[in-house]
Amino acid sequence: MERKIGGKALNWADLGFEYVRTDWRFSARWRDGQWGEGKLLDCEIMPLHEGSPALHYAQECFEGMKAQSARDGRVLLFRPELNSERLKQAAGRLLMPEVPTDLFMRGVETAVRENREWIPPFGSGASLYVRPMLIGVGDNLGLRPAKEFEFRVFVSPVGPYYKQAGLAPIALAVSEMDRAAPHGTGNFKVGANYAGGLLATRKAQQQGASEALYLDAAERRYIDEAGSANILVVLRDGSLVTPRSAAILPSVTRRSLMQLAADRLGMPTTERPIDLRAEFDDFVEMGACGTAAVVSPIARIWFDGAWRAVNRKELGDDIKGSGVVGSVMQELYDLLTGIQQGEIAEDYGWIHEVKL
Ligand SMILES: *Cc1c(COP(=O)(O)O)cnc(C)c1O
Repeated sequence: MERKIGGKALNWADLGFEYVRTDWRFSARWRDGQWGEGKLLDCEIMPLHEGSPALHYAQECFEGMKAQSARDGRVLLFRPELNSERLKQAAGRLLMPEVPTDLFMRGVETAVRENREWIPPFGSGASLYVRPMLIGVGDNLGLRPAKEFEFRVFVSPVGPYYKQAGLAPIALAVSEMDRAAPHGTGNFKVGANYAGGLLATRKAQQQGASEALYLDAAERRYIDEAGSANILVVLRDGSLVTPRSAAILPSVTRRSLMQLAADRLGMPTTERPIDLRAEFDDFVEMGACGTAAVVSPIARIWFDGAWRAVNRKELGDDIKGSGVVGSVMQELYDLLTGIQQGEIAEDYGWIHEVKL
């Protein structure tokens, strides 16, 4: 099969984070209380009933992960069982049937394997993004759960998050809008959380930031997370802290980076509420983490009407001078990407090979 995008031959280096149609997608239906076997489809267009609860009431959840090529050609997934577990939690919250782990893994592995020609090679900087999703389908009008569900997995090659070599520091702007309520759905990867964030992201970008930073909705004091990334902070005392909040998405990347910081960098690590205003002067490094970017160093933050440089004790308030990448974020990035690509050995059991 020829790899082409819009009639042009695919060049790994040109890829961004955009949908690229690949050859096959996996689809399984839940009907009358049980999951079907699942099958491969070549068509990317889904025929959906206009009354589908996924469309009206966002009875829908999803996952995101990457498959990467190792130097020896093996194809590696990173901790996919955590994505499976998280999808189950989201399904339970939205009254959808859980996708059993074996069906989840079969869907993911089948979609990766059958699109093997779309898996970027080792060293290209690109990877195969895997998007599992679970949606409520079928005719419905009143607000109640769907009677039928589709579990679908499609894949798309995506480019290196950083087009230039190395990590690029970003800026965040504290949003006046809230992302999630304290006892709402912020800790689940459910579609309903994201449409509401588009405007916050747009406003942050108009201010010159890359993303919105959300504070806790109850007190607007503690850091929650960015639009699609958890937050890590290196404090002046050399420890690594990350927000504890019931309203943030439990990021696989964040959990892995915290573990690596403790085990490989010997840093004290804590998950606790972080008071942005009270503690900001102690921030030495800050990062936003998630599957797509791994970790983006954060150079400056907009809050209470001004831009502030992270680590301004050392850098002064010269915002332009704060674009340096801190050594902890760089080391964490190198460690995690090294493990994910099979270059650095690990004994956690994080790497899952997809047999082609
Ligand atoms: C997906 C996501 C993340 C990152 O999670 P990973 O498992 O590391 O990819 C962080 N925050 C939000 C809101 C997300 O949707």
